[in-house]
Amino acid sequence: MEKNDWEKLIDSLIKQGILHSPKVIKAMRAVPRTKFLPKDAQPYSAVDTPLPIGFGQTISAPHMVSIMNEALELEVGMKVLEVGSGSGWHAATIAEIVAPREIPRSEYGHVYTVEIVQDLAELARKNIRNAGYSDRVTIYCGDGSKGYPEKSPYERILVTAAAPNMPSPLIEQLKPNGIMLIPVGSVSLFQNLIKVVKEPDGKVKHENLGGVAFVPLTGEYGHQF
Ligand code: SAM
Repeated sequence: MEKNDWEKLIDSLIKQGILHSPKVIKAMRAVPRTKFLPKDAQPYSAVDTPLPIGFGQTISAPHMVSIMNEALELEVGMKVLEVGSGSGWHAATIAEIVAPREIPRSEYGHVYTVEIVQDLAELARKNIRNAGYSDRVTIYCGDGSKGYPEKSPYERILVTAAAPNMPSPLIEQLKPNGIMLIPVGSVSLFQNLIKVVKEPDGKVKHENLGGVAFVPLTGEYGHQF
């Protein structure tokens, strides 16, 4: 049977070495971007580029979500915080890994995701509901640059907008042995994706995963305009 465009894109990400772990591949296959895109962008769902979702914001490119989901070293049962819900798509791909349908509900992990733009928080909620992830993803509207202390600590944190510096509340809300991914850099798109590992004694190690181009993180620990 002829493969659809989404399956072809996943095959290409595997061929490029961007996707390699079976659980991340399975999750990326299970959640095509289409359901999370506005109607006029849906024909481009499988084009490997960020796409507009309204309110001046974008859904990330499939290769970037793949890179982040591989680097997060996600496991079943983990509690994850995402800063920057946007369309809700990235959160849904993570839910597929930390709370797969095949396991008992009592073993589910959970994705908490914070979006600062109220209309987008509502859009993400609607998309998450329509795609069947409401029991595994919770969306809050607020300033995620301060994290979401009410549900902390988290085993994994990902920030999907670029911060000027490492926000200290996010480090505080990361569990020992936890991993955080955050783009850090200027608003003019010169940024690096930083992997932060918090060791058991609370010390943090940083690894630069390379150059990226994200929209700016706003809010208290974000870029000030
Ligand atoms: N993860 C998203 C998805 O799957 O569609 C894409 C995220 S988009 C590249 C970045 C998002 O971060 C935007 O929706 C933006 O409004 C949001 N954002 C920026 N600063 C924020 C903050 N301080 N707190 C929460 N969200 C923020």
